[in-house]
Amino acid sequence: MDKDLKEKTLDELEQIVVGLGQKKYLAGYVFGFIHTKGISEISQITPLSKTLREQLAKDDHFISQLKVVSKLADPDGTVKYLFELPDGNRIETVLLFDDDRRTLCVSTQVGCAMNCAFCATAKVRLRCNLTAAEIVDQVNTVQKDEGRISNVVYMGMGEPLQNYDAVVKSVRILNDPAGKNIGIRHITISTCGIVPAIKKLADEDIHPRLAISLNAPTDALRTKFMPINSKYSIAELIEAAKFYRLKAKQRVTFEYVMIKGVNDTVLHAQVLARLVRGIRCRVNPPHAWRINLIEFNPYPGCEFVASGRERIERFKEILEEVGIKTTVRFKMGQSINAACGQLGAAWEGKDEGRRAKL
Ligand code: SF4
Repeated sequence: MDKDLKEKTLDELEQIVVGLGQKKYLAGYVFGFIHTKGISEISQITPLSKTLREQLAKDDHFISQLKVVSKLADPDGTVKYLFELPDGNRIETVLLFDDDRRTLCVSTQVGCAMNCAFCATAKVRLRCNLTAAEIVDQVNTVQKDEGRISNVVYMGMGEPLQNYDAVVKSVRILNDPAGKNIGIRHITISTCGIVPAIKKLADEDIHPRLAISLNAPTDALRTKFMPINSKYSIAELIEAAKFYRLKAKQRVTFEYVMIKGVNDTVLHAQVLARLVRGIRCRVNPPHAWRINLIEFNPYPGCEFVASGRERIERFKEILEEVGIKTTVRFKMGQSINAACGQLGAAWEGKDEGRRAKL
């Protein structure tokens, strides 16, 4: 992918253009045409001279393009795209509408190795990491099709921080004012809790919002359905969240998928409230830590059941009684398997072995 112009930051494009003996500012046209006009041919970058376009093509540069396999719409407005990568592997991307926000949930890997018990993507074994271009192109393609995307959440297939370099690069490209210019507070990376990567992200010069998939208030319970917890405990995860909050000065939210009889009792809520209230951080009072309760979405063959809405509301009340800001994300896109945790369930196994395993 070294020659893919969609994969390049503006700085990298400038180096390419200058390396070809041309003026640096011309790189801005390449970047702008790719990321705001969604073009896929070098010949379509018309402000460039014919000579420069020919130089780029002669140097084997190209602009990659995801193939849209299908586009499904749910009655609630949610739209799910199934994309095919050049090697035949497939990924899913979901567009959600919420008032005037148009949020795109992007994938970062084909499959996932984290093996969270409640997640359909975990059933698709990890096949490969996406490139930065493949992540960015989900936004480019959907925006060209459906209009401006206001928010991007890295919550689709895969664990974003396991594909660290491509994910951070894609954030830089999406945030660049010369391209999509999506504000950094409108970009959220969701992680199951790769502690060293959270700390590394805090040390970057670009800081998206962070969502931590917590899902249980104790290590004993969390380890049962999130194997990553046996490597990084809840205490270590909270230390990393504090470090990110302090260094990045960016919002951190704890995500909590509500599963009936597993993690949704009054006692679970009370223990969670105590845990979050106990977080001490210089930049925040405890009530500044947010919890997002997510209605669980069962997928075919799944052993878990969703908590009822009454139970979710009760859980929320317990958290709010002690001053924790709590939101609830109810299921969206369920009829098209586009809801949280359902991605990859429908087509898994149909394209085995087309790309080398990691
Ligand atoms: S919840 Fe996220 S990290 Fe866990 S298996 Fe699913 S995609 Fe991977």
